[in-house]
Amino acid sequence: MHRLAQLDRQFVWHPFTQMRDWLRREPLVIVSGRDAVVRDVHGREYLDANSSIWTNLHGHNHAKINAAIQRQLRKIAHSSALGLANAPASLLAEKLVESANEICDLRVAIYDSTRKSARKSAIANRKLSKVFFSDDGSTALEVALKLAYEFTRRTRSANNLSAAKKSTEPKFLSLEGAYHGDTVGAVALGHIDLFHRDYSGLLFKTDKVMSPYCYRCPFNRAKPERADARAYRRCNWECIGKIEQKFFAQKKKGNPYAAFVFEPLIQGAVGMIPQPTGWLQRAAEIARGYGALLIADEVMTGFGRTGFPSPLNSQPSTSLFACHQECVQPDFLCLAKGMTGGYLPMAATLTTQKIFSAFLGEYAEFKTFFHGHSYTANQLGAAASLASLDILRSAESVRDRVRLEKTLHDELQPLWSQPNVGDIRQVGLIVGIELVKDWRTRRPFDLCARAGIRVCEAMAKRGVLTRPIGNVVVLLPPYCTTAAQVKKIVTALGDGIAAALGN
Ligand code: PMP
Repeated sequence: MHRLAQLDRQFVWHPFTQMRDWLRREPLVIVSGRDAVVRDVHGREYLDANSSIWTNLHGHNHAKINAAIQRQLRKIAHSSALGLANAPASLLAEKLVESANEICDLRVAIYDSTRKSARKSAIANRKLSKVFFSDDGSTALEVALKLAYEFTRRTRSANNLSAAKKSTEPKFLSLEGAYHGDTVGAVALGHIDLFHRDYSGLLFKTDKVMSPYCYRCPFNRAKPERADARAYRRCNWECIGKIEQKFFAQKKKGNPYAAFVFEPLIQGAVGMIPQPTGWLQRAAEIARGYGALLIADEVMTGFGRTGFPSPLNSQPSTSLFACHQECVQPDFLCLAKGMTGGYLPMAATLTTQKIFSAFLGEYAEFKTFFHGHSYTANQLGAAASLASLDILRSAESVRDRVRLEKTLHDELQPLWSQPNVGDIRQVGLIVGIELVKDWRTRRPFDLCARAGIRVCEAMAKRGVLTRPIGNVVVLLPPYCTTAAQVKKIVTALGDGIAAALGN
């Protein structure tokens, strides 16, 4: 065994990993990468089919991001944001605000032309104009959670609603199967039993509401077909009805939900579960109608991951964010993972002037947001993020992403003929393939059968790396992945399913 592998086994505890299994074999030790390929310590090459757990955007060792980090490194790597500003973080905040309001600006322009001024100013108020930097997806959510909580307490007490009473504590609603990170506040917003149950004693209570999972929805009366279940579902939007009921019931208790937290278009960590077209807009409208703040977790979906549909007046949406594909403008936009192109840990929580203003006051009023991390607004991360945004805006990147989305879709179609493939779900450049015992019955594999893990191990032998979520194999390749590489990924998947599951 390579010495580095030995060291890892001796000293490193890996995340989301049963270490007894880990210690049974020699781990893959990655030493370098270029574009969509990573290389291990023995010189073997693999396609990075999940973009290093959904972080990488443009490929490894990207010349422009490398150069941006090196330029910044010659100046300074890090100085604190507690009491000091810095150049790349200020520039990045401006660019993030611009990107986060594309849909808003567009809507204001439309309402301008129709002169509905009240509605126009409501929309203008939703402009995301302030950026709070942090370190990763979990901290981006913690920031949104604390800001929404405290904003609600302050504005409710200003409106003479007793914020002190336990029964009027600001309450949060999130989705069944929600995953928003692993820090305690983010875990409280989550609803995946396997991950969260053991820590329930540590958590504050949040409510959950049904999320759409068309493939296994109890309200979907359609029989299984060889197509994405969203396309052939037969239902009456009962999942939306459940949201309405939940908001109504909570309002009747005299303590309407403070905020609704969601992953837009597709829930990731619960198994790549996409929402049918129109769900997000409907859900957001209900939440708004009951006065709740919207917290959009775009940690996975942000920065172009969900592709380019054209929802608004048939103008193609060039927005980098999933919410905008359904014309939803949240009050909090949480970003991380791909923000630096997958180079460095850095995150941002964007919010409105209205939220920001609730924390303004004289020093002695102590309205300050007492929250912050040592590496907040790190210069190297900000420089990488600026370079990544530039690349995302280039015609070449747009072309690559359009092409990759189509290639993925086309290459995946033959997999429908495999009996263990139950559902193939694609949203832009995100794919989840749900493995089942038999597609006709949708009968799932028992989790202990490790079907997803076995398939991914078989794929690794074929030179393709990804991680499953239970019985769902995830494909989420870097944007630079070529057509030939997509073919290799999907072939490895098809062959891996046949080899591991024997069908
Ligand atoms: N939100 C979502 C939607 C995520 O997918 C993740 C990570 N998988 C997180 C939050 C947490 O991000 P991090 O691991 O960077 O803390």
